Amino acid sequence: MDDCLFCKIIAGKIPSRKVYEDDKVYVFEDIHPKAPTHVLIIPKRHIRGLKEAQEDDAEIIGYCHLVAANIARDRGIEDGYRTVYNVGPGSGQSVFHLHLHLLGGRHLTWPPG
Ligand code: AMP
Ligand code: ZN
Repeated sequence: MDDCLFCKIIAGKIPSRKVYEDDKVYVFEDIHPKAPTHVLIIPKRHIRGLKEAQEDDAEIIGYCHLVAANIARDRGIEDGYRTVYNVGPGSGQSVFHLHLHLLGGRHLTWPPG
């Protein structure tokens, strides 16, 4: 999508600190990290958000979680990390291209704010 920030990042039109990439996903460091590890896992195909996802998107949604688990393993943060989809403006979703937050590397309180 032309006016989507994360589509522009995938296309290399806006710089990012890439962590991982394959044919399905792009992973990069969050620009305002909320934990020592804070990366965003995004599908290369534009999906607006979780509530707009369709049955066809089920595989990529699950795949994003497996990629998050691999990164957490690589970074040695498996003692405790969190994967988060913010869904809708009331949750803090500010970018409307589906993205999975992976947060870890510090103690995470529950429930989140
Ligand atoms: P959310 O609030 O769930 O929509 O998450 C959007 C995330 O994108 C926030 O954590 C922002 O810090 C992050 N973000 C926004 N712009 C950029 C950017 N240009 N590069 C990396 N992360 C970004
Ligand atoms: Zn997009």
